[in-house]
Amino acid sequence: MAEEPVTQTIGKQKNIALIAHDGMKKEMLEWCGWNKSLLQKHFLCGTGTTAAMISSKIGLPVRAYHSGPLGGDQQIGAKIAEGAIDLVVFFSDPLSAQPHDPDVKALLRIAGVYDIPIATNRASADFMITSPLMDNEYNHRTIHFKRATRDFKIRH
Ligand code: PGA
Repeated sequence: MAEEPVTQTIGKQKNIALIAHDGMKKEMLEWCGWNKSLLQKHFLCGTGTTAAMISSKIGLPVRAYHSGPLGGDQQIGAKIAEGAIDLVVFFSDPLSAQPHDPDVKALLRIAGVYDIPIATNRASADFMITSPLMDNEYNHRTIHFKRATRDFKIRH
């Protein structure tokens, strides 16, 4: 497919998805606690267990999707495709096999398709959250999903 990219704007207030594999949940909680004042300026969502833990232990409102192994990563991927998620913080566990590894790969891929920033470890998340772009609008060149669908239908 050779769709013309379009400029999309990520607003000042961002829709942020938070995901942590089991081995990384403690780290995610620490990170959310440390960055609470920054995170509370944005809209948060996450996979089921991660979201519930952040809400109850850190006191940030996090919209919960299904648990990751039960389709939560796929739901977040679908929201990226709809243009409803601007940024992902995903503390993946590089030392444990995950039953839902194909879903994780799919999430990484769809974030790539739509040029969505995705931090997969704490240092990347630190760089991301302290970026001046967190408090500003950001224009990026990405695929216009509705137009791409229309053009695809016309060609086939
Ligand atoms: P969880 O899912 O937040 O429901 O544990 C995370 C994951 O393993 O993808």
